[in-house]
Amino acid sequence: MSTIVTPVVIEAASVRICTSCKRPIIPQEKATSFKCPNCGLVVIWRCQKCRTLNTPYKCPNCGFEGP
Ligand SMILES: [Zn+2]
Ligand SMILES: [Zn+2]
Repeated sequence: MSTIVTPVVIEAASVRICTSCKRPIIPQEKATSFKCPNCGLVVIWRCQKCRTLNTPYKCPNCGFEGP
């Protein structure tokens, strides 16, 4: 008797990319996340560095740019 086991692929869903600088945000980092104020569909992530520098972000969905 052979049972075919479907391999469970655990996606790296916890990896967050800073919307401003495109760098991965480590869990220990005090990054901030908020939904796009224009379309509300995309969660914008900003790393600690970009928060400090006030690096502008751009929504990948609607192209909204904000400080
Ligand atoms: Zn950043
Ligand atoms: Zn948007």
